[in-house]
Amino acid sequence: MSDYDDITDYYSLLAMQNPGKCTYHGPSEPDDLIDRLRNAYQCCSECGNKYGVYSVGCSSFWIGKCDVCDAETSVTETRDYAYLITGIRRVEAARKSAG
Ligand SMILES: [Zn+2]
Repeated sequence: MSDYDDITDYYSLLAMQNPGKCTYHGPSEPDDLIDRLRNAYQCCSECGNKYGVYSVGCSSFWIGKCDVCDAETSVTETRDYAYLITGIRRVEAARKSAG
């Protein structure tokens, strides 16, 4: 029971810090991230493997700026990582479950 009370206190505290607003939607990062993933044309292999599935036998990589993490490194088209759709879906699902 005391655990539940703690959670309630935590959320009411947040609500008090944002009067008149629907209390808590988490950090803004997920929205930014999902926009980045959706709009990304090219990404580095790290982001590709993190947010997508490598779907072709080989890709042409070139030096450029990753549209997801902004790193200047070797990048390829997000198309080769199934347009990062798994990452987009995962972030969307996480956002839904967070309310
Ligand atoms: Zn990256």
